[in-house]
Amino acid sequence: MGSGETSFREKLASFRQRGLERFRITFEGRTPRHLSQEGRLYVSFASNDYLGLSCHPRVREKSCEAVEKFGAGAGASPLVCGQLGLHTQLEEEIARWKGTEAACLFSSGYAAALGTIRALVGPGDLVVLDEFSHASLWDGARLSRALVRVFSHSDLDALQRVLTRYSKKNRRILVVAESVYSMDGDVAPLQDLVELKDRYGAWLLLDEAHATGIYGKAGAGLGSELGVASRIEFHLGTLGKVLGSMGAYVAASREVIQWLLHSARSLMYSTALSPAMVAAALEALKILHSEEGARRRNQLWDNIRFINPDGSSAILPIVVGAESKAMEMASRLQEEGFYVPAIRYPTVPRGKARLRISVTSEHKPADMAGLLAILRHMGICP
Ligand SMILES: *Cc1c(COP(=O)(O)O)cnc(C)c1O
Repeated sequence: MGSGETSFREKLASFRQRGLERFRITFEGRTPRHLSQEGRLYVSFASNDYLGLSCHPRVREKSCEAVEKFGAGAGASPLVCGQLGLHTQLEEEIARWKGTEAACLFSSGYAAALGTIRALVGPGDLVVLDEFSHASLWDGARLSRALVRVFSHSDLDALQRVLTRYSKKNRRILVVAESVYSMDGDVAPLQDLVELKDRYGAWLLLDEAHATGIYGKAGAGLGSELGVASRIEFHLGTLGKVLGSMGAYVAASREVIQWLLHSARSLMYSTALSPAMVAAALEALKILHSEEGARRRNQLWDNIRFINPDGSSAILPIVVGAESKAMEMASRLQEEGFYVPAIRYPTVPRGKARLRISVTSEHKPADMAGLLAILRHMGICP
């Protein structure tokens, strides 16, 4: 143990030296638009609460009502006794919204990716991931013990080369992609991706974490926006971003969802989502379907274009390169009253550190103009 401690200390020192030290800042309060710390208020361009629904009065109210009615926790795994009427209702609403036969809930997007990929493929199968895929998707692929291959980011020729090479080997192939990439904010060439995987008889698992609530009918995602949703085998989305709550879902055929109940270990062996979180997500989903949802979505798009006229998602990265430079710039912005996270290795490749601006419908023109003015002063034109 003694030497183990030393090596942790050394490893930590090495992280520090390379500007890769990680820490959590404790905030005293938050809204979709602001963060407060040590008595100071910052305009936040850091959260994934893109439509501000985590603080919507009706979302809060429904969440509180659920606690009053059912208590704080669900008490057990959904397969034991943690599945309440609220959970089943949310699953049914999600399936209707995504246009699938069924859906099931997970305690987080990370858990959903881990449990689902492992349940769908195994030794002898192939998983092909976009190189920029979220860590949870990589971990799910590794855990499945299927053969893992990667294609260059959104490069469909590269994907085709992998599919050509492996498709005759009589294995199941699962292609994994995101609709909006979380650290680059770019949108996948989904239409062509769907054509391609269909040509090779491969399955597609699409992670819509950063697209849910923003694109498509009632914010059902990029698959809905482009009219290809029905050709996507497995839809993954989170409740912790636009839906303002926490947890995640997978939407698919009834048979696949049944199979997940028998094989997705992160669902089977984990406590069901708390009633408060489920009730919040249900209300947020209702808002997405309403006129108010459309209004918030339009406001978000106005704000995205305010920051960047060519913006195609709510995420705007400013790649600065060196890790230390990204950290310096983030603290400079913080001095000026803006909280923008610096994203570093291993979340992004070494030497590709960046500031990651995420916009919400709740930001005011003055917030965005203020940020842009300081960025310009720092020599950056996003
Ligand atoms: C946020 C995110 C996840 C993880 O979701 P959590 O609910 O926060 O665990 C998974 N995939 C992508 C692409 C994400 O952006």
